[in-house]
Amino acid sequence: MENPLFIQKAYINGTFVEGTNSFEVINPSTNQSIGSLPDLTIEDCRQAIEDAHEAWKSWRNTPVGERCALVRKIFELTKEYKDALAEIMTLESGKPLAESKGEIDYGNAFVEWFAEEGKRAYGENIPSLNGLTRLSTIKQSVGVVGAITPWNFPLAMISRKMAPALVAGCTMVLKPASQTPFTAIALAKIAEMAGIPKGVFSVITSKDSKGIGHELATNPLVRKITFTGSTEVGRTLMEQAASTIKRVSFELGGNAPFLVFDDADLDAAVKGAVAGKFRNAGQTCVSINRFYVQDSIYDAFAEKLKQAVNQLKIGDGFEEGVQVGPLINKAAIEKVTDHVQDAVSKGARILIGGKVITDNFFAPTVLVDMPLTAKISTEETFGPICALFRFSTEEEGIALANDTPFGLAAYFYSENIHRCQRVAEALEAGMVGINTGLISNASAPFGGIKASGIGREGSKYGLDEYLEIKYLCYGQK
Ligand code: ADP
Repeated sequence: MENPLFIQKAYINGTFVEGTNSFEVINPSTNQSIGSLPDLTIEDCRQAIEDAHEAWKSWRNTPVGERCALVRKIFELTKEYKDALAEIMTLESGKPLAESKGEIDYGNAFVEWFAEEGKRAYGENIPSLNGLTRLSTIKQSVGVVGAITPWNFPLAMISRKMAPALVAGCTMVLKPASQTPFTAIALAKIAEMAGIPKGVFSVITSKDSKGIGHELATNPLVRKITFTGSTEVGRTLMEQAASTIKRVSFELGGNAPFLVFDDADLDAAVKGAVAGKFRNAGQTCVSINRFYVQDSIYDAFAEKLKQAVNQLKIGDGFEEGVQVGPLINKAAIEKVTDHVQDAVSKGARILIGGKVITDNFFAPTVLVDMPLTAKISTEETFGPICALFRFSTEEEGIALANDTPFGLAAYFYSENIHRCQRVAEALEAGMVGINTGLISNASAPFGGIKASGIGREGSKYGLDEYLEIKYLCYGQK
């Protein structure tokens, strides 16, 4: 492949390295190999951590203006190399090219934001109650950060961790998902071109997620773990991180509800539903998983949604106009198929779709008359399925939406301002979309409550995740 960012090596301490073993990366659209990357070991990871610790000693003392300027350079180069990056992303994730480009803009917006916000890591002066001391705070970098990221947003999930960490003065060792590691290596190349000093940002490619994850979560030189992925793995990492009392930021699974009230603008709700459901073929942590539609508008909404779903173009991500690509692999297809069959066996009806088209492609689907006992009620489906449950009163809708251990995103549609205020406050989620199906951007705090995570990414809060507050008490003479 003629692509300046396509590099079949890992990146440690400022050097592109090979390993003794390697692993193949598969294009989910064709099931063909794209290339291979080093299958690095726990020892390699340990070395990268030690290098990152060494690099931290000078990076944390590099003036913040300089750090921000270098991160700004990553932003500029990412823009310049957008097409090359998008090609790699679509090849390894299968997402439509237009979505890959959209993700690059989205992820890169975090880089731009933090290159600016990094300069505003303000401390405070605190009035002394007895006047005998002077009190103030400063914010300092946490230290070496271990980052672990998933395959569904091969770039953005890294950008929104790396950019705040680096401007804060932290160094980072990243383990990207083994399904989509080439985008991470491409970002490492961009970081190198930007002039980020060696050891400040390293990328460990490996099939041994457990071993590398354990090393990052237990090595005493790592002061923080930031992770996006499943709740199950988050729980394991939290247990492991407990041994050295590391700081953690976790963005975990969701099971987002989408409520449509009888006073909603139905056309707008359908538009929001399609945007919030079919992006990345439903494989995002904020994807709508459960639709709750009020009795009186249930049939009308279902019919309009069916018509909108019927218009979606499915295919290889490189084909012009494709809106829905393949799922990431066979396991994903099996899970989605199981969720649909389970719902149907318990009484749901398929309005459209409901089956595999070919290989990793699943037809965009609308299910109606969903029973509350269906697996989709409690498990994240991660696929292009709209499952429509019914509710009658506002209280019932809210109770159903909150009846989950998760609390990442929630969405609802209503034209009544008072209802909007009530429902927004009552929903148990870290983020609520009110009359919109798309909520994420760099200036807003992204994150969950309950089993969906700890901490926030993006916004001024996303910077604090990589800073310690130090309190200074000056005695007076
Ligand atoms: P997903 O369903 O998105 O693959 P996972 O939580 O399984 O969610 O994976 C997210 C990231 O966590 C990936 O980079 C994966 O390789 C990594 N991972 C998987 N298992 C572990 C583990 N036991 N410890 C650390 N990282 C892991």
